[in-house]
Amino acid sequence: MDPQGPHAVIERALDLPPSRLPARASLFLDFDGTLVDLIDRPDAVQVTDRVRALVAALCARLEGRLAIVTGRDAGFVREKLGMSYLGIAGSHGQEIHFPDGTTEIPEAPAALGEAGDALTQYAAAHEGVLVERKPLGVALHYRMAPHLEGWSLALAEELATAHGLHLQPGKMMVELRAPGGDKGSAVARILDTPPFAGTVPIMLGDDLTDEPGFAAAAAHGGWGVLVGPLRQTSARYRLEGVQHVLAWLDGVLDT
Ligand SMILES: [Mg+2]
Repeated sequence: MDPQGPHAVIERALDLPPSRLPARASLFLDFDGTLVDLIDRPDAVQVTDRVRALVAALCARLEGRLAIVTGRDAGFVREKLGMSYLGIAGSHGQEIHFPDGTTEIPEAPAALGEAGDALTQYAAAHEGVLVERKPLGVALHYRMAPHLEGWSLALAEELATAHGLHLQPGKMMVELRAPGGDKGSAVARILDTPPFAGTVPIMLGDDLTDEPGFAAAAAHGGWGVLVGPLRQTSARYRLEGVQHVLAWLDGVLDT
């Protein structure tokens, strides 16, 4: 526990992460807002050659001990990064794809389809609102219609209660997803398996959904890196934004 109490944490600036990774480190990287900038239309995200090359080089340097931990469909991120052997925990850590190609994917609840249909109807009637369907969730994005935040959140909350789904607020979006599992449980599960077992986990992420990942990294002897503005967090270090993350990762690769 922080000696100054839980509310002192946000008052304290977080240092930059050290440029040298601990021996036997493993890296857990969020995707949106960490490796790529957040954009209005999430389906239109572009991954540059620089990011693809950087992730591949880090993965090789760490002998496979690198995993992406994302809110997105894991298949989408795999395709964007173009690496078939990469470990990916998708759908906020609920679907796990191990580097050897094996997967752990729970069955999607039927209620997800019904809730998704209701959100699709709402989006069709409201300009600038987008629905993103994923294997284990459905997200409502209102980045292009911020004035609809209140209505969007209220509808999502109502649907979550009616269908027994988990309500997951994010940055200018809200998601309904299958209950059970988060980025923390995904990091812990991946750390159970080779080549991650016994390593010092380092987790980078920008959103509230990354907090359980930071906590899991700390619980296994590693640390979290918050990306973006300071907030109350379980991360030990902080980087300002995506470009700072890429520069730090470049530096890690050079040491
Ligand atoms: Mg993110």
